[in-house]
Amino acid sequence: MSQIIDGKKISQEIKDELKEKVAKLKEQGTEIALAVIQVGEDPASSVYVRNKKRACEYIGIESVAYEIPETTTQDELLAIIDDCNKNPKINGILVQLPLPDHIDEDTVIKAIAPEKDVDGFHPQSVGAMTIGEPGFLPCTPAGIIQLLKRSGVEIEGKECVIIGRSNIVGKPMALLLLRENGTVTICHSRTKNLKEVAKRADILVAALGRPKFIDESYVKEGAVVIDVGIHRDANNKLCGDVDFDRVAPHTSAITPVPGGVGPMTIAMLMNNCVESAEK
Ligand code: NAD
Repeated sequence: MSQIIDGKKISQEIKDELKEKVAKLKEQGTEIALAVIQVGEDPASSVYVRNKKRACEYIGIESVAYEIPETTTQDELLAIIDDCNKNPKINGILVQLPLPDHIDEDTVIKAIAPEKDVDGFHPQSVGAMTIGEPGFLPCTPAGIIQLLKRSGVEIEGKECVIIGRSNIVGKPMALLLLRENGTVTICHSRTKNLKEVAKRADILVAALGRPKFIDESYVKEGAVVIDVGIHRDANNKLCGDVDFDRVAPHTSAITPVPGGVGPMTIAMLMNNCVESAEK
């Protein structure tokens, strides 16, 4: 029978561990604060931001909210980031993506001081991860490593196939699985024979952003399947990139959507904030 990897439970464990750490840091006089910057009122972004603030409150991190209008210019946003960079009370800076079209995401990401880059998107953080130096790890792939480890899934020596090569999920996922001594393959929209490659996987990570795309014909019997996708189906129900009902019976372990990878992303963001304060 397939093990359902419970991201809600594992993320709660991590948040509880962090809550204890934060209480100890407070006893020693260290307060932690995260700047949460949202430009505009995109409904999905508002949900993410609300959840991040809630997690901060639970753990004992102060969230300093900058909810600024859609019409904010790039220079105005950069000025806020600069203030946060200089403010010694702020340990982490989160700019909720996507940004409005008139603001260049890369410029904004590069403006965040690497020592406060708790999303792990700054080129310096990415470079450090690539060569195995200390730095913040991007939250979704780091959360997946935690899910695997805390569910007893061994990575070393395993065939790991990732479908998707984005800078925030696919590519860093590959690097982190490699760091754990997995044998890693990245697939993308130009990959030939996707099914054949996917079927080699002992650990298959689906991060292609296509609802229920992965059915049982992509999955080796007994594989571990991690579903990163988040979508709403025709009935407005949340679903992932994996057709869970068809795939689950063929796996040894699988993450559901919701309740799999999603909650881990926020838990790892909180982890990065605490790490920043510890430094
Ligand atoms: P993206 O659109 O930036 O990247 C998708 C990648 O998949 C691309 O590299 C593309 O080459 C590849 N791809 C697309 N179609 C393909 C196909 N038919 N065959 C093979 N490869 C294909 O997406 P992203 O930002 O990496 O996000 C992926 C999914 O994960 C989305 O559904 C997103 O909403 C979700 N997501 C979830 C979390 C979370 O916390 N759970 C975090 C980030 C992203």
